[in-house]
Amino acid sequence: MIPGIDRDSRPWWEALSRHELVHQRCDDCGRWRWPPRAMCGECGSFAWSWQPVTGDGVVVSHIRTHHSFLPGIEAPYSTVFVALAEQDDVVLPGFWRGDSEPAIGQAVRAVFVDQEGGESLLGWR
Ligand SMILES: [Zn+2]
Repeated sequence: MIPGIDRDSRPWWEALSRHELVHQRCDDCGRWRWPPRAMCGECGSFAWSWQPVTGDGVVVSHIRTHHSFLPGIEAPYSTVFVALAEQDDVVLPGFWRGDSEPAIGQAVRAVFVDQEGGESLLGWR
């Protein structure tokens, strides 16, 4: 089950399930944005396209969750917030899949956390 899917975010979730990481990028000013939305917060343009990103980033924050909210995701688990290499003010949450506890400033790469039913969630390691 994927939480919070809507018209704007559906292509992002569908790409994750194909093990692709894509982001909206403004066709006019070139800014990347997250979360998905219809209008550019920088220049106000409604012209944008989905483009692939490298999946590289740096941990800027992390939290530990002690209650399970999703089937198949057992607590406790860590969530990390990662600034994308393409643009460091785009920060993405994802499940931590590293071998040790995450650290702020740690270089990471996106991974795909497969769910029953063929969907995938974003993870980092
Ligand atoms: Zn723009």
